Amino acid sequence: MNSTLLYNLRALSVDDSWKLFLQSSGRDKEDLDSEFIDIGKDIVRKCGGVPLAVKALGGIVGSKKEINSWRAVKESELWDIGGTTYAFTALTLPKKFTMAFDQVRRRFTWDIDETGTAGGKCKVNWPAVCSPTSFGGLGILDLDRFARALRLRWLWLQWHHPERPWTQLGTPCSALDRCLFAAATRVTVGNGTRASFWWSNWCGGETLRCRFPLLYKHSIRKHRTVAQALSDSRWVLDLRRAPHGAIATEFLTLWRELSSIALQPDVDDSILWILSADGCYSTKSAYLAQFAGRITSVAQDLIWETWAPAKCKLFGWLLIQKRVWTADRLLQRGWPNCYFCPLCIRNLETHQHLFFDCPFARLLWASIASWRHCSGLAPRAWSACDNMHDAWHAMIAATHVDHRDGVKSVIILVLWELWTERNARIFKDKASSLRQLLHRIEDEANGWAFAGAKKLQRLIWEPP
Ligand SMILES: [Zn+2]
Repeated sequence: MNSTLLYNLRALSVDDSWKLFLQSSGRDKEDLDSEFIDIGKDIVRKCGGVPLAVKALGGIVGSKKEINSWRAVKESELWDIGGTTYAFTALTLPKKFTMAFDQVRRRFTWDIDETGTAGGKCKVNWPAVCSPTSFGGLGILDLDRFARALRLRWLWLQWHHPERPWTQLGTPCSALDRCLFAAATRVTVGNGTRASFWWSNWCGGETLRCRFPLLYKHSIRKHRTVAQALSDSRWVLDLRRAPHGAIATEFLTLWRELSSIALQPDVDDSILWILSADGCYSTKSAYLAQFAGRITSVAQDLIWETWAPAKCKLFGWLLIQKRVWTADRLLQRGWPNCYFCPLCIRNLETHQHLFFDCPFARLLWASIASWRHCSGLAPRAWSACDNMHDAWHAMIAATHVDHRDGVKSVIILVLWELWTERNARIFKDKASSLRQLLHRIEDEANGWAFAGAKKLQRLIWEPP
């Protein structure tokens, strides 16, 4: 895959950053004391000329009248977690920004020219591309989910380090962020002074906010700690304006549950991150948790964990999703196509035909199957399969378990060479015989083995 476009994103100068900072804060330079100006300029310098960071931080300190609040931002831990990129990623990203950023990434990934004409280049939709490889994507970061995963760090640190100065500024976390945080944690209540009554996951495996939505809706105090809520049954008093009939069922259920809870004044509340083995927050686990429920993709095993050059893996990834431009797909779109399979000139060219059903392809597979340990590639092992995935899996299932990793590389190589041969016949009017193609595959396999494909080395070089 060639990507030829380069986008140079220039940073703002310090002067321009300072003007933007003042504008975003809603303050005039004349109204600010010299101390505010000095700290403000330090904050601006730390932003490294990134307009979004300047704008966001200007907005945060704009409403703060005390110099300590400005100092808290300047000395915040925000700057210590990996530079400006992380700093502004950890803030709430405007939708416009992520869309613009994604547009640049999408153009780069699919090599789309500056006119923005995608043609047939965008073969897989962008949200799918931005999924982890285990869920069928390319593993490119999904910015919204990544930013959310980073933001959850503030909630974790807020719990463990409430004394840190930035906690007084609040966190950039939305209600959705807090729900994800609650789902990813389990709180054990001791004295109840830290756990949030409605928002922490401390009772019944889910937040009370989710379990009792009507009670939460009508409660006039939604941010009490567990200790505050249970003291003198204040959570009940908070519901005094609620319509009694509507909340009766939820109220009785919660009342019964809370009646058995006794706080322990000498024990602090504790929290556990349930998504990682060590019980501590990690950005990776918070990011991956947002893809929970999706079906895992066969591409992880067949493609990404197999040794092959990146261009061949990318081709295999597209092929698994049937996103390679064979004649049947071109025909569906009404685009120019050759209709017949260029290898046999007998059938309509489809994925299944070109790579598995075509007589030329079957002869090639049969010839490769004569290689040592590769008998599973013989057509008899997968002839009964009527789709590509099943045929692919049948080849691997018919191979001895010790040689499967090497055979997976061979499968990608053969598919790639079939595609290269097909393209040479269509676009260069140049056809190779089966013998020539076999030699080419052998040479390429040796090249891969030299380049570091250890399992392939064992398959083709080691004595039986
Ligand atoms: Zn054919």
